[in-house]
Amino acid sequence: MTWLMLLTLLGISLVCAFYGTSLLLWTAAIAAGIFVFAVAGSVPVLSVVMIAAVFAVIAIPLNFRPWRQQLISAPFLKQFRRMLPSVSESEQVALDAGTVGWEGELFAGKPNWQLLKKQAYLELTIEEKAFIDGPVEELCDMMNQWEITHYDADLNPETWDFIKRNRFLGMIIPKEYGRLGFSAMAHRAVLQKISSVSSVAGSHVAVPNSLGPGELLLHYGTEEQKNEYLPKLARGDEIPCFCLTGPTAGSDATSIPDYGIVCKGKYKGEQVLGMRLNFDKRYITLAPIATLIGVAFRLYDPDGLMGDKEDLGISLALIPRDTKGMEIGKRHLPLNVPFQNGPVRGKDVFVPLDALIGGTEMAGQGWKMLLECLSVGRAITLPSCSTGGVKMGALATGAYARIRKQFNLPIGRFEGVESALARIGANAYATSALSRMTATAVDLGEKPSVGSAIAKYHATEMAREVITDAMDVHGGKGIILGPRNYLGRGWQGMPVWITVEGANILTRNLMIFGQGAIRCHPYVIKEMEAARIENVSERTERFDHLLFSHIGFFIRNAVRSLVLGLSFGKFAVVPHDRKTAKYYQKLSRYSACLAFASDISMLTLGGKLKQKEHISARLGDVLSQLYICSAMLKRYESQGRPAADQAILAWAFHHAIHKTQIALRKVVDNFPNRFLRGVMGFVIFPLGRRERAPGDRLTHKVAQLLLAPSDTRDRLTDGIYKSAKSGHPIGQMEEALPQVIRAEPLERKLLKALKHNVVSGITWEEQIQDAIARSVITTEEADILVHVRELVMEIIAVDEFDSEEIQAGQRKPGAKKGLKKDMRRDRPLDTQHAA
Ligand SMILES: Cc1cc2nc3c(=O)[nH]c(=O)nc-3n(C[C@H](O)[C@H](O)[C@H](O)COP(=O)(O)OP(=O)(O)OC[C@H]3O[C@@H](n4cnc5c(N)ncnc54)[C@H](O)[C@@H]3O)c2cc1C
Repeated sequence: MTWLMLLTLLGISLVCAFYGTSLLLWTAAIAAGIFVFAVAGSVPVLSVVMIAAVFAVIAIPLNFRPWRQQLISAPFLKQFRRMLPSVSESEQVALDAGTVGWEGELFAGKPNWQLLKKQAYLELTIEEKAFIDGPVEELCDMMNQWEITHYDADLNPETWDFIKRNRFLGMIIPKEYGRLGFSAMAHRAVLQKISSVSSVAGSHVAVPNSLGPGELLLHYGTEEQKNEYLPKLARGDEIPCFCLTGPTAGSDATSIPDYGIVCKGKYKGEQVLGMRLNFDKRYITLAPIATLIGVAFRLYDPDGLMGDKEDLGISLALIPRDTKGMEIGKRHLPLNVPFQNGPVRGKDVFVPLDALIGGTEMAGQGWKMLLECLSVGRAITLPSCSTGGVKMGALATGAYARIRKQFNLPIGRFEGVESALARIGANAYATSALSRMTATAVDLGEKPSVGSAIAKYHATEMAREVITDAMDVHGGKGIILGPRNYLGRGWQGMPVWITVEGANILTRNLMIFGQGAIRCHPYVIKEMEAARIENVSERTERFDHLLFSHIGFFIRNAVRSLVLGLSFGKFAVVPHDRKTAKYYQKLSRYSACLAFASDISMLTLGGKLKQKEHISARLGDVLSQLYICSAMLKRYESQGRPAADQAILAWAFHHAIHKTQIALRKVVDNFPNRFLRGVMGFVIFPLGRRERAPGDRLTHKVAQLLLAPSDTRDRLTDGIYKSAKSGHPIGQMEEALPQVIRAEPLERKLLKALKHNVVSGITWEEQIQDAIARSVITTEEADILVHVRELVMEIIAVDEFDSEEIQAGQRKPGAKKGLKKDMRRDRPLDTQHAA
């Protein structure tokens, strides 16, 4: 009976921990349990007294704050202050920037699914929809990726004019400044559609609407700056660019050596207080044609002309192109996706202090401004462009895999190709859901710094996987460049999207979890703040409260991890839907595992976790996959749970959860502390690794969905350019697809007749004639076969050129072959250096 009593009390504790009740409630529940056993009299009195005494020794100090603070919180606080990671100014700004949304729920271990359910599933307004169906469709009609990338190395003047006239460069800025004032969802829809045709045009439209003078001015500009520049940017009278990156400061952007000195000087004939700027920037999108240059630099005030601070910090200024000392360099060539990009340099450029974005008040606030705008830009630009790309990849590869036949079968019917098709389909489903989720967050007023990092990294990585699969499925058709090739440039340009707006390795290893963990954790930031409070008693009081909430949080997540692991997530409270309840249960389980593993990592590694990128990247992967799965479930629910989409959702979901399991397992297996490795392994995987990658039958089902027109395929690829009007090869393929499918039974009839020697002939044309003669097919059926064969030959055709036509570059008159002059070295570098 004593054991029964102990087990009952343990059970009560587990239930309290699982539901995260307060300490007081746990105390009351255990006290009540002891009381009931005592009254029942079935347990020996001595046992009851001993258990009650032990309980009292634990519970009283825990519930009596002064004792608890003295015995536990104060010593712990001392240790915590010693472990507290040093946070640089720029890191602090990064931590403070942005807001936390759904990712915070996932990180905290017990997601409230009702919140996700309640989140709006935003649609475009009538005006926005009309813009997508009107000017955006027209712009897509005008563009030819081959002309742009091979002959013009730019958009042609008519296209540029159309873009400016229709205010594509100012979609997000409010109407009062003459812009379109579009929502993030509309911004996403425009980029998605344009990028499905041309990544060059996509980049040109994306940049001014993302991190750049327009957005910076909108959020931080003074009224005069807004009134002066925003209407001009709206009309395309000014072309903006923004310069942060330089030769020595890439990912580590806060290390920019570019500087400005506050001084007096002459500007437009008048003596004014201003800044003398020196900078060297590269990779700047739109720079070669920009007229208004945004520059980031560190501002110094050695003579105290602005105040008593000498190093004011990173600041941002807007400088007209024709300012004395500005040098707009020539063009870079970003991987045969020749959007306008190049270096910008400044030598003793003098501008008045009015040039500071936000005026003198915002001097030194540059890094914060950039990060806040970046969290919005990153949530939309690359996820939306990637969505356009992956949807196009899914549409085109599905159609091509049905149309292209080898061994007398559409190649999409071969199991090997099915694997690639299923991956493409699932990635398209996931990318679109992900980019929709972050764009929604922006429309709901968030600055999702962690969500946008997840979206940037995973949307571009999924796009990379899709374009690689699409190239494999297309074989030579994807390799031979020319107007008929709709994949090659996308594949070539992929590393650009991986690198810009936070290179992907850095984003995965440092930003998603590194900053995400601290941003999303319900207690860590608050504990760090509390530990820095000057007043000792206030500090201990505040820290004590947070510490015990944190301990409760930790215990709750450990118990939930274990219980949900043992019960396959059954006890999690999830939305009741027969099909998807088990998905929510899995997410609830892994959310608890993530919270538990994160707490152990932060507690034991402290500030060192920053350097342990293997661990933080994998924990970030878990958070990301949970976020992507949530986005997919939101999409499925909001689209009315279409039964026909279940296979694709299932594939994408199991793929993501399998990746989650791999990431968590690697965290456990590589955890530096052996004992904790064992504890984590037991709590997170009590029944071992049970998640499976999508099976072959499911793979087959998903692949088939891409091979023929259907509602699911339409939903999967909605919002991209599909027209055949301007000779766009994908549009033409889409038009041909139903005809090819209708002709398949006839083709099979002909093949069967050939196999059984009912029909013969050396050439295909002779075989057709013989089939008509022997009444295997009618003349009408023969016409269909001939017509479809013509269509297919056109689709599978590739381009050929005269040599001169593919010699894209032209050497300048007098230029020597080989390395450029400034790159040639007469001696090895080391001897040159010594000399
Ligand atoms: C086509 C193009 C357009 C661009 N447009 C603009 C623009 O308009 N304005 C602008 O200011 N900049 C622009 N950039 C710059 C872009 O943002 C940078 O290229 C990017 O920040 C990376 O810097 P980097 O190329 O110098 O690479 P590096 O910083 O040298 O990084 C190299 C590699 O190291 C990794 N790495 C670095 N630090 C870490 C770390 N701590 N942990 C893990 N991995 C790490 C990176 O992820 C990357 O894989 C553009 C770049 C390109 C290529």
